[in-house]
Amino acid sequence: EAKEINQILDEKPIVNEQQLKHWSWIAQYYMCSLGDVYRASLPSAFLLESETIVYKNEAFTEETILDDDEFLIFEALQHQSQLTIHQVADILGKKKVMPIVNELIKKSAIYIKEEIYEQYKPKLVKYVRLHTSYNSDASLNTLLEELSRAKKQRDAVLTYFQLSTSKKPIKAKDLEENANVSSAILKSLVDKNIFEFYHIQTDRISFKGDTNDLKKLNEFQEVALKEIKETFKEKDVTLFHGITSSGKTEVYTKLIQEVLDAGKQVLFLLPEIALTTQIITRLQFYFGNQISVFHSKYSMNERVEVWNNVLENKSKAQIILGARSSIFLPFSNLGLIVVDEEHETSYKQFEPSPRYNARDAAIVLSNIHKAKILLGSATPSLESYFNAKQEKYGFVELNRRHGNVQLPKIELIDVKEKHRKKEMKGHFSDRMLKLIQEALDEKEQVILFQNRRGFSPVVECKTCGVSPQCPNCDVSLTYHKFRNELRCHYCNYQRAMPNSCGACGSNTLDTKGFGTEQIELELKELFPDFNIGRMDLDTTRGKFGYQKIIGAFEAREIDILVGTQMLSKGLDFDNVSLVGILNADAMLNFPDFRAHERAYQLMVQVSGRAGRSKKQGNVAIQTYNPYHQILQQVSTTNYTEMYKEQLQERWQYKYPPYYRLIKITLKHKDYNKVDSGINWLFKALHNSFGEHVLGPTAPAVSRIRNQYIKNLVIKIPPKQSLSNTKAQITKIKNTFEAVKDFRPIRFIVDVDAY
Ligand code: ADP
Ligand code: ZN
Ligand code: ZN
Repeated sequence: EAKEINQILDEKPIVNEQQLKHWSWIAQYYMCSLGDVYRASLPSAFLLESETIVYKNEAFTEETILDDDEFLIFEALQHQSQLTIHQVADILGKKKVMPIVNELIKKSAIYIKEEIYEQYKPKLVKYVRLHTSYNSDASLNTLLEELSRAKKQRDAVLTYFQLSTSKKPIKAKDLEENANVSSAILKSLVDKNIFEFYHIQTDRISFKGDTNDLKKLNEFQEVALKEIKETFKEKDVTLFHGITSSGKTEVYTKLIQEVLDAGKQVLFLLPEIALTTQIITRLQFYFGNQISVFHSKYSMNERVEVWNNVLENKSKAQIILGARSSIFLPFSNLGLIVVDEEHETSYKQFEPSPRYNARDAAIVLSNIHKAKILLGSATPSLESYFNAKQEKYGFVELNRRHGNVQLPKIELIDVKEKHRKKEMKGHFSDRMLKLIQEALDEKEQVILFQNRRGFSPVVECKTCGVSPQCPNCDVSLTYHKFRNELRCHYCNYQRAMPNSCGACGSNTLDTKGFGTEQIELELKELFPDFNIGRMDLDTTRGKFGYQKIIGAFEAREIDILVGTQMLSKGLDFDNVSLVGILNADAMLNFPDFRAHERAYQLMVQVSGRAGRSKKQGNVAIQTYNPYHQILQQVSTTNYTEMYKEQLQERWQYKYPPYYRLIKITLKHKDYNKVDSGINWLFKALHNSFGEHVLGPTAPAVSRIRNQYIKNLVIKIPPKQSLSNTKAQITKIKNTFEAVKDFRPIRFIVDVDAY
């Protein structure tokens, strides 16, 4: 029997055909369920009410009171702003998770209502405007007469006219200050219906934006732009390799303008929104309120608003600036995608599923829309450069810095020799100190890069050699001096620094290695008359922490800025003449097939912060191994040599871009379960893929938050069918999951694994 219609959910579809096509590609390619993709894509206001969604309480800091399962959920919420109960169950590898969720709510670590996080809520600014009933001069004169005995109120109205052009709203604060009246006076005027208050979110205040401010391209940028347009006639994807400070952004803006003029939408992808405010400001300056920023940390309501604006092709959503999740928006009329810093690993989502690479998914998206896509970087990923060389992508280079400033002079400092000659002061060579002093004497600023935070990564007993370990993870604890604490960088476990060794009881605990905190302290002693700043996860956690430091450095309130890889994200300062890299070796010795490529990218990007506007800058790199090929290539900024050499190794050892990798990870609390699971799996996969299955291996940190981890990697040769391979893996996975003993084990498939 036909039933009555209860409710019409939407008048119009909220997703479009292109999205459905894109999402099914993602599910199929990254071997996950369509549901996972939908969940990652849709702001939850669209989800059914019965789907409970949990959020992290940003104010909650007592992570130590959480047990393991609770911590896992909490931690996952650091990476994704929300989780459904289904995802929580997936993360924990359990079905019954509501008791755990309820416990977390009781501890106020999370909540399930839809609430805007205080921290990410854009600030509200109070505006005031004259009520429209006073639009005519006559009514105004009457008003002023009426107010003749209320002097303060009259002042407020008169000052409003001075400050406001054509009766536009002005900031309440400005009015109070200029009229010298209190907020109570303004309030009384509002109560009398003379003024109106309203609030505007700071990031939504309409920016006029002026494309007349677009800079004129220099001759080399002009050529690059022409070449890009030329390649777009034949290719849909173009790699734009422009050295640091060559002005790639200016070239993007011109291209964007042309696409807007043609009435099409633009998607501008950035690796991390919080770290790239400089570029957002620059683009807003040109394109004003045609830009919408899409941020996974925004509240649901705001995300829904952006979603609808994109869906309806509204003028204020012609350009979307966003991190990886913005590829899911309902574009209908996409003309161009720009992937800035396309080499950045933050384009890859690790957790939770879908484990997609936004750069690669964006290429598919552009294809669906018949749009063009530009991948930009000073240090392209080997994969993209390879594709360009194979002529799969178009390729354009820009080899000049704007203003013809030379790339910085890069010198390598042999720390071994410096130690031998006793020319080290703490962690600084005399040469590094001299360069710092010279820069400071010239009133220039210095950036120092140290890719480890904390004071020292290892604490060791000199008597018995034992290091304090994290109770939850297989890793030693990092010493943080300021709080005199030991901390785990994997699970955030923290405890007070003990006075004596837990193993032998001797008072001989010693620190080994160094992090940003130690460098900062040494600098404060070495350069007591200068301001030292530090930028790492520990100093940027709070509200706007990152912007504060960047702002202070821009305003030259900080002379020397010490920091981790956060410093490599496209920052543009005009007074930095020296960049120092304190310990290059740690990056080179990382056990990962991409370690050398990444070390090159990181060092060249950090170096690129030096000498951007006036004169050539300096870079000094301290190392124990100055003859390492990567350091040689960094010191000459020889990308192509690095590329050739790395490519050779990738071919020899069967890695991307030649072979594709699918990584399978098993996780569980019980070591034996993981162990027998992985051995079963290895046999099954080995039967299908033979020598192309690597492992099983335990990762460098083989237990995190009490979950044991084991990996297998399947290498897929260039000519082997990817879809057949995946079908076989899925079959094996299904058989695995049918084994009762293995059911609680978390089974993670990562396609194009990092
Ligand atoms: P990249 O992203 O390639 O490292 P940027 O786009 O940040 O380089 O440009 C470096 C600096 O040079 C910026 O401060 C930018 O404003 C300036 N610049 C680049 N091109 C021009 C131009 N054509 N006219 C004026 N200034 C420019
Ligand atoms: Zn000891
Ligand atoms: Zn830990």
